[in-house]
Amino acid sequence: MKVPARLVVIGGGPAGLFAALSACSVLKASSFPAVVTVLERNARLGLKLLATGSGQCNITQNASPEEMATHYGDKSRFLLPALKACPPSQVMDRFSAWNLPLVIRGDGKVFPRSLRARDVLDTLQEQCIKAKVEFQRDSRVSALIRENDSFHISIENGTTLVADAVIIATGGLSYPTTGSTGDGYALAKSLGHTIITPHAALTGVYTPQSTLGNLSGISFTPAGLTILTGPEKGRYWSGPLLITHTGISGPLVLNNSRYLTSGDEVSLCFLPHEDGTLRTPLEMESLLKRLIANQGSLQLQTVLHQLDLPKAFISWVLQESGVDGGHKAAEVGKKQLAPIAQALVATRLSVSLKGCLEKAMATAGGVALSEVNRKTMQSQLVEGLYFAGEVLDIDGDTGGYNLQAAWSTGWAAGQAAAVSISTALPK
Ligand SMILES: Cc1cc2nc3c(=O)[nH]c(=O)nc-3n(C[C@H](O)[C@H](O)[C@H](O)COP(=O)(O)OP(=O)(O)OC[C@H]3O[C@@H](n4cnc5c(N)ncnc54)[C@H](O)[C@@H]3O)c2cc1C
Repeated sequence: MKVPARLVVIGGGPAGLFAALSACSVLKASSFPAVVTVLERNARLGLKLLATGSGQCNITQNASPEEMATHYGDKSRFLLPALKACPPSQVMDRFSAWNLPLVIRGDGKVFPRSLRARDVLDTLQEQCIKAKVEFQRDSRVSALIRENDSFHISIENGTTLVADAVIIATGGLSYPTTGSTGDGYALAKSLGHTIITPHAALTGVYTPQSTLGNLSGISFTPAGLTILTGPEKGRYWSGPLLITHTGISGPLVLNNSRYLTSGDEVSLCFLPHEDGTLRTPLEMESLLKRLIANQGSLQLQTVLHQLDLPKAFISWVLQESGVDGGHKAAEVGKKQLAPIAQALVATRLSVSLKGCLEKAMATAGGVALSEVNRKTMQSQLVEGLYFAGEVLDIDGDTGGYNLQAAWSTGWAAGQAAAVSISTALPK
């Protein structure tokens, strides 16, 4: 009896499940007899998906592919074709057609109307079952070999599977308890791929030598962050900043942590201009002088409170600058104003990302994009090998961008892998 063609997807997360569904749609349309198998190391699929959006699952953003593409750091160019082929609108249409009602929030974030990540996972599984996707759970892939136009896939339980095409969708390295422990990097590397060193993204960072932690819970909307040292020196952004008891977080830090490395020095501007551009210490000093000129008889701290910043923060600024806030403002000279201005708009901190990868929401780094076709997600080194999701060197901002990358790359890989087996192999 003739054995049907087999496409194996390694990893049953959002990218893997979308890839399997995508492949099935092509195979069904061409009536090509093939088996699509998802190998998942855990007893259950999609454990990380269940944790997304604090259990509510921010599926995507209601935005155009071009607008979406600006939220992946320097990886926009690579991702755009996949985003165009499977844009947020299509993801939303698909989930809606699969009977998962969605809700679009005012900030553009898209969630299931039930606000239950479980419903997203159940929907994907139901569709996979309908499409006759074969699942093998408790099946951790330990080796992948290409031999005579086929892939030999070794599973930890001792079994081996032969496939005509393989999609690696094993995720990154963060939240390892969900199953993403970087196995895909080793599999890709064994087939010759370069792995860009994985590191934490979408994470708050530690500021071990700073006293900012005393202000834990205080947020600044917006603040500015500039990298002062290292390879990313000179990059700066503004956005909402949150002080935590061990360091700094909030969208400003989360979305740019992909550029930070332990030991980097950064500068925080707690009072940027209204248009988000950063205020320099000299500009700050001038502003303080203007405020004081009008109200010199008041205490310095009373004048500073007019900056509309949290009171505890002003106390911290005065403490850091070594200036007594009880002084009459008119008596405060340049020597004292300069460190205050410095603390307000150019506080220098050293950051640490030690231990951040474990609890980061995404992994930066992964399979080098220069070795992957950006339209099909096919390896440029090994025919029949595809990648999808976070295993690739792609990480997005917070707000549904990472799941959208998983849907889009999964869809592209599934389509291309199915087309390749159905055109390369006889029916
Ligand atoms: C707490 C948290 C909240 C998040 N919230 C959001 C959000 O709201 N919106 C958003 O867009 N993004 C969010 N993200 C990011 C998003 O979850 C990931 O980007 C996404 O899950 C990546 O999908 P993936 O399929 O590539 O990888 P994963 O979801 O990691 O799935 C990979 C799968 O492969 C399996 N696997 C790994 N190795 C093997 C192997 N050797 N053999 C077989 N199977 C294997 C794993 O067990 C896992 O099931 C969040 C992440 C975290 C940690």
